[in-house]
Amino acid sequence: MGAGDWGACVCGDWVESGTFARLNSIRLSLLPKELISSLEGLPGFDAAAFEAVHESGRQVVSIRVNPGKVGEGGVEGNGAAALGFEGAVRVPWSNWGYYLPERPSFTMDPRFHAGAYYVQEASSMFLEVALRQAVDLSRPLRVLDLCAAPGGKSTLIESLLSRDSMLVSNEVIRNRVHILQENMTKWGAAGTFITSNDPKDFQRLENYFDVIVVDAPCSGSGLFRREPEAIGEWSLDNVRLCEQRQQRILADCWPALRQDGILIYSTCSYSKQEDEDILDWMMGDLQAEGLRLNVPEEWGIVETRGEKGGYGYRCYPHRLDGEGFFLACLRKVDGGTFTAPRKKSAPERLTRQEEERVRAMIRPDVEVSFFRHQEQINVLPESLLGELSLLQSACYLKRAGVPMGKLSAKELIPEHDLAVSTVISSALPVLNVSREQALQYLRKEEIAPGDAPLGWTLVVYEGWKLGWIKVLPRRSNNYYPKEWRILKR
Ligand code: SAM
Repeated sequence: MGAGDWGACVCGDWVESGTFARLNSIRLSLLPKELISSLEGLPGFDAAAFEAVHESGRQVVSIRVNPGKVGEGGVEGNGAAALGFEGAVRVPWSNWGYYLPERPSFTMDPRFHAGAYYVQEASSMFLEVALRQAVDLSRPLRVLDLCAAPGGKSTLIESLLSRDSMLVSNEVIRNRVHILQENMTKWGAAGTFITSNDPKDFQRLENYFDVIVVDAPCSGSGLFRREPEAIGEWSLDNVRLCEQRQQRILADCWPALRQDGILIYSTCSYSKQEDEDILDWMMGDLQAEGLRLNVPEEWGIVETRGEKGGYGYRCYPHRLDGEGFFLACLRKVDGGTFTAPRKKSAPERLTRQEEERVRAMIRPDVEVSFFRHQEQINVLPESLLGELSLLQSACYLKRAGVPMGKLSAKELIPEHDLAVSTVISSALPVLNVSREQALQYLRKEEIAPGDAPLGWTLVVYEGWKLGWIKVLPRRSNNYYPKEWRILKR
């Protein structure tokens, strides 16, 4: 899929196209009556205001800047303003989230492709509050984002973790892994792993994770204002099916959480069956402890209680600038600690000479290890090499750390992942390009190499690395990934 194609919305994040005017004309009369009546009496629900806000069709646009990269191109201070988004206003519950007064063409912004920011629905950024309050983020942590595609929560989680922490971003649906991989690659962090496993596979890693985030597949009513087209697919039967699936997913991954570990459960559904009832079920069947968060009233996020005394947090579009979202935070009170298996397969290390050759491509101030997987050289924070062996034996690992490229006798043939990573050296040859040239590059057209030296060169727009070209006498070859190229003119 080319970058200009992303039509269908995927779970709370961007929709890039001209669909909004059309969506606005779809009227509220389509909101299911059964949905409205099932929500009566829930904390914060107000049928008239709820219906009015859906009728308005108002679209809220928000982005979250990448703290791993902002600063890189001399971009400092207020992230969105520094990125040139005029009139940007901070999302109150996020350090890096900003509302934009209108929707620019993200496709035509080279910085979007460089991973400078992620286009994310504002309510779902509330995960940041839950992680900051329920977890000691200064410690090295093992975090699993179980239902991760397209990567909105994973990119947010990554921004919060300390350098020695690891994030496993998992997506079981095979044809959704590529979009997760694309977004995580652009985000550029080295301490991340991408897996494609069924939740129950993680039982092989009993008591392993400190934090598990389950942003569960759900009936999706929380996105009806933004995607009225989905309204027709909603039914009470589907809500019931989703509830059963959510229980199954949670029960399956629960053994992988260590004693005192934190599970954060979220949906973009308003339905009590998928929200408070799941919270009750976890406190009953899994004997989890419900955690309360400190949420300022002025944010408009509503605290809700399960029957067993747990706490949940509801976002409604008539109470705040964002879509429908539910989140609950739980602690595992039983369980144990992780025992590493005695026999682990060690990753293939490089020879000293090989290591010297690839080390030059990496920032000197980061502690990393290199390993070879098949022909590919990868770089990973030093502290995570042991975790790699474990994950390799337990999971279907799609990516570990940052793929750097393949070593030939003469050179490292670099991967795109390295170009957009946060660990790449700043001492490599670059070609600074204009916006027009940047877009030409992102369309995978040839760009004039100017006076760039021969060989592998980074294409850089306003300080943001976009990818590689290979400069040849009087021309260059464009190595931007074909499947990500911009199709839009
Ligand atoms: N966390 C993502 C983000 O912020 O970008 C959105 C996740 S979306 C709400 C739910 C994800 O769960 C989808 O990617 C879907 O493919 C995945 N999923 C579907 N069925 C699943 C299952 N049985 N077990 C685990 N994940 C599943």
